[in-house]
Amino acid sequence: MSAVPKEVFTVGAAAAKFIAKPRQLLIDGKWTNAESGKTFPVINPATGEQIARVAEGDKADVDKAVKAARKAFETGPWPAMSRSDRGKLLHRIGDLMLKYADELAELESLDNGKPVAVARAADVALSADMFHYMSGWATKRHGVTLPVDCLYTPGVQYHSYTRPEPVGVVGQIIPWNFPLLMAAWKLAPALTMGCTVVLKVAEETPLSALRLGEIMQEAGLPAGVVNIITGFGETAGAALAAHPDVDKIAFTGSTEVGRLIVKAATNNLKKVSLELGGKSPNIILADADLETAIPGAASAIFFNHGQCCCAGSRLYVEQKIFDQVVEGVSEEAKKIKLGPGLDPSTQMGPLVSEIQFSRVCGFLESGFREGAKAIAGGKKREGKGFFVEPTVLVDAKPGMKVVDEEIFGPVVTAMPFRQFDDELVRQANNTIYGLAAGIWTRDVSKAHALAARLKAGTVWINCFNIFDASLPFGGYKQSGWGREMGEAVLENYTESKAVTVRI
Ligand code: NAP
Ligand code: MG
Repeated sequence: MSAVPKEVFTVGAAAAKFIAKPRQLLIDGKWTNAESGKTFPVINPATGEQIARVAEGDKADVDKAVKAARKAFETGPWPAMSRSDRGKLLHRIGDLMLKYADELAELESLDNGKPVAVARAADVALSADMFHYMSGWATKRHGVTLPVDCLYTPGVQYHSYTRPEPVGVVGQIIPWNFPLLMAAWKLAPALTMGCTVVLKVAEETPLSALRLGEIMQEAGLPAGVVNIITGFGETAGAALAAHPDVDKIAFTGSTEVGRLIVKAATNNLKKVSLELGGKSPNIILADADLETAIPGAASAIFFNHGQCCCAGSRLYVEQKIFDQVVEGVSEEAKKIKLGPGLDPSTQMGPLVSEIQFSRVCGFLESGFREGAKAIAGGKKREGKGFFVEPTVLVDAKPGMKVVDEEIFGPVVTAMPFRQFDDELVRQANNTIYGLAAGIWTRDVSKAHALAARLKAGTVWINCFNIFDASLPFGGYKQSGWGREMGEAVLENYTESKAVTVRI
């Protein structure tokens, strides 16, 4: 692929202004340099070139941020704010995100590589909606009254009730695949419950969350309620996970780092929720409407360049339609136009970083070595940027890395199955993960029967990658602990207090 002429695909004036100066950490309502004075580069994955610099926060900055979050949680305007005002403030953040939607989408596209139109229609829209949706819960989360007959104090009456209270100071660590959306999924529910937050964003994609920090200030969020640290996982992230004054840690990222988070959390036994990897089965039965199932299966894996924890990366197709489906999905793959995210004609951008690019290329090489064959794609693009072709692999079997492990790139393995039976269910569930699954069929009985037997936190029937702020999302097995979004996520940020009064 030829080098992209820089001047052709530039961001608008607002985003250009944002990246023109080095971005700082947000601590206690002030933008500040890292204590060490260090900064690190932000890279445009379409060119491999530096587009901005950000502060390199580490343990010292995390300590300052946790102190600020503790102060904001215990005293000052945040705990004193009415639920109604808290809800209105969150709603205002959502409104402002929409006001600055184009700028946010451009920053996201530039930093992460995704097409700007997708960033605008999906990432930014869903992020703003998360704040709007969560704003309503500020006034609707309530406890219950409970009938209590204490067995060893006969004749005495009690009135008992529960109070949902904020869990306290929350550490949140997020990945690079949906930088703004992951920030919104984490921040909005914690704030609606009245928690305060230290957010550690991914080193590859810090920009949109930093802009969100400014937006939250503009909306009137008091100082210290949200603190944002840019920096590295091994230093800033690890310090946050281990911090003795953090009450809860919420993490999204790899299963491997999830394990480290759990270990780090044991010192003060902080609460932990985890959104981890996936290797989702996407199952097409012979009676499916292939006009929707084929593009659906393509989009299930190629959306966001396959950098989705829920990507439909194991495609199971009933034997009698296998060749037709593989050919159809491969045709879809070949049609996808690769290019820089800011080019309006781009349908798939680069992978997020050189590391991710090498990781995905390594998976492809290992797949070919072990006998898999590419019907579409299978190659990286030479030249600038981290581009990998949308790839459909066949002749792949369990035991191969490309089938067993999360690739987190635009690579699907298509595998035939004989019919809908126990063996299909066994194969679909034959993974350490359990995040999502897809089913394509016209037979409602089969659809519901299969949905009930798949060990996954989300099942999509005749669709894939459908998200809404009201729908809980999270994993069975090694895909995580707890749920994001919906009413369910509020559990992550709640302590329930039982109060009993003698009458
Ligand atoms: P990652 O290495 O696990 O990184 C995620 C976050 O954790 C980043 O902010 C990272 O910092 C930080 N981190 C790294 N090492 C740490 C440590 N020792 N202590 C504390 N924090 C640490 O994952 P990734 O490579 O960025 O993202 C891809 C993976 O995330 C995939 O496996 C994917 O399945 C998973 N994911 C899951 C979901 C979900 O909702 N379940 C969503 C998105 C991604 P740095 O930025 O410095 O590395
Ligand atoms: Mg970047």
